Amino acid sequence: MSTSELPVSSNFIRTIITEDLESGKRQQVVTRFPPEPNGYLHIGHAKSICINFGLAEEFKGRCHLRFDDTNPVKEDDEYVEAIKDDVRWLGFDWGEHLHFASDYFDQLYAWAVQLIKAGQAYVDSQSAEEMRANRGTLTEPGKDSPYRERSIEENLDLFEKMKNGEFPDGSHVLRAKIDMAAPNMNLRDPAMYRILHAHHHRTGDKWCIYPMYDFAHGQGDSIEGVTHSICTLEFEDHRPLYEWFIKTLDIFAPQQIEFARLNLSYTVMSKRKLLQLVRENYVSGWDDPRMPTLVGMRRRGYPAAAVRNFCERIGVGKGASWIDLSVLEDCVREQLNETAYRRMAVLDPLKVTITNYPADQVEDIQSPNHPQQPELGNRVVPFTNELYIERDDFMEDPPKKFFRLGPGREVRLRNAYIIRCDEVIKDEQGQVIELRCSADLDTLGEAPADGRKVKGIIHWVSARHAEEVEVRLYDRLFSQENPDKAENYLSALNPQSLQIIRAYAEPGLLAAAAGETFQFERVGYFCVDSRESQAGQPVFNRTVTLRDAWAKLK
Ligand code: ATP
Ligand code: MG
Repeated sequence: MSTSELPVSSNFIRTIITEDLESGKRQQVVTRFPPEPNGYLHIGHAKSICINFGLAEEFKGRCHLRFDDTNPVKEDDEYVEAIKDDVRWLGFDWGEHLHFASDYFDQLYAWAVQLIKAGQAYVDSQSAEEMRANRGTLTEPGKDSPYRERSIEENLDLFEKMKNGEFPDGSHVLRAKIDMAAPNMNLRDPAMYRILHAHHHRTGDKWCIYPMYDFAHGQGDSIEGVTHSICTLEFEDHRPLYEWFIKTLDIFAPQQIEFARLNLSYTVMSKRKLLQLVRENYVSGWDDPRMPTLVGMRRRGYPAAAVRNFCERIGVGKGASWIDLSVLEDCVREQLNETAYRRMAVLDPLKVTITNYPADQVEDIQSPNHPQQPELGNRVVPFTNELYIERDDFMEDPPKKFFRLGPGREVRLRNAYIIRCDEVIKDEQGQVIELRCSADLDTLGEAPADGRKVKGIIHWVSARHAEEVEVRLYDRLFSQENPDKAENYLSALNPQSLQIIRAYAEPGLLAAAAGETFQFERVGYFCVDSRESQAGQPVFNRTVTLRDAWAKLK
């Protein structure tokens, strides 16, 4: 399905919020985007960001950026900064509301003590294996821990000692005292605190016990006054637990609403897998232009507006959502088609000599920056008797429907003359190395006077003026539709996902600035790489081809 056929949908979350405001259940809308700073954001996170920030904006509420940093072992400031950059790049602003779960560690600790005092939490000293064995299964209830009936005094004492660093990692945990026979496994006395002698990226060595995500997340929302806590479906089963904590602590109750996470074909989104791709050098880094990360997409030249349009277009629902990568690529094309300046570059050059054009002449060809937007002006492209054209714009024995060059055939050079191929020159191996052509010198910006039709238009550069540039032809990172289905997702990597070539570009492109994106006419969209380009030596990343080359393969 092409993107233009996809409806721009309203969604069920918008409906819930509208009803909550109308009924007076809520006076305002407060949402949050709650990443864990343990990796870079990917396109799935963009969906969540657009929903949370988008709805807050729409209802004139606010959206917080909160880092759920409860696992010091995997978290890092590098990720915090990268995530902030990504959210800003997408065009959203959290204002004063930058928060960290770690800001609430004192409060969470106090709440844990409160639950112990109320007889609703206890210190368990079973080993991890014992705990696992006693947890039961989906069909069998769990067994109470032998430590479940410890006295409040003993629990308070042990928890204090846990906090003071008197025990090694894993020797005790604080658990909520709920119900070991609950059908929902999340309610079988879930862990609230564990011992972890680890340095935290913000609290340093202050703590050697850390709250579990499930004990921090809901209360974080509550502290911040989040009205609509929007998350992905895997947290549906955790909702009763969050509600239990909120109710037992008697604090402000946010409403949790779950939606289906985004799955994108030809892509993996697990942070663990993305981290492996980076660590084991399958890609050049988190910002490798083939990565589904926002830094990667940005470097590849995807405009933020295209990513936002994509998130709007795919909608929000409860059913598992698999979206074809081509939908995202179409959004990128649509956006760039509007904004990218046109330029000419030849990726696989074949020399053309115009035999009836003076060898010492250089003609300034006025060429529009954007054929549909004349207000964007023109640039001048030099024309001479020696040009390069794309090798595959010539065929020695072309079929009828081929409207480009062949022996005796005519074609128009973009913005310039109609030429006819008179002679094909080959090397000793029989490779075509040059075409000798004649130009109809009355056809600059004019149709042929005799009314003959010339259908094909091809791009070109003057050989003498062409600038040699590095071009990186990126393709999909995976060649299988669902890499997670393969026995090992690494075996689904596309061996042709990067091809580096030298291309001939029209003059002027050497001065292109990092991040600038162009349409190389008839070839694709290309963006100046922000990392590896140097002044006067741009490296061009192919952002996306002009048409979906994968569609016909399916
Ligand atoms: P993990 O928990 O495995 O580290 P995660 O992708 O859930 O990875 P978080 O940092 O917890 O990472 O995600 C932040 C927010 O983004 C969460 O609210 C999560 O539900 C949401 N999110 C993550 N992946 C997707 C996705 N594919 N589609 C939509 N939302 C997502
Ligand atoms: Mg998560």
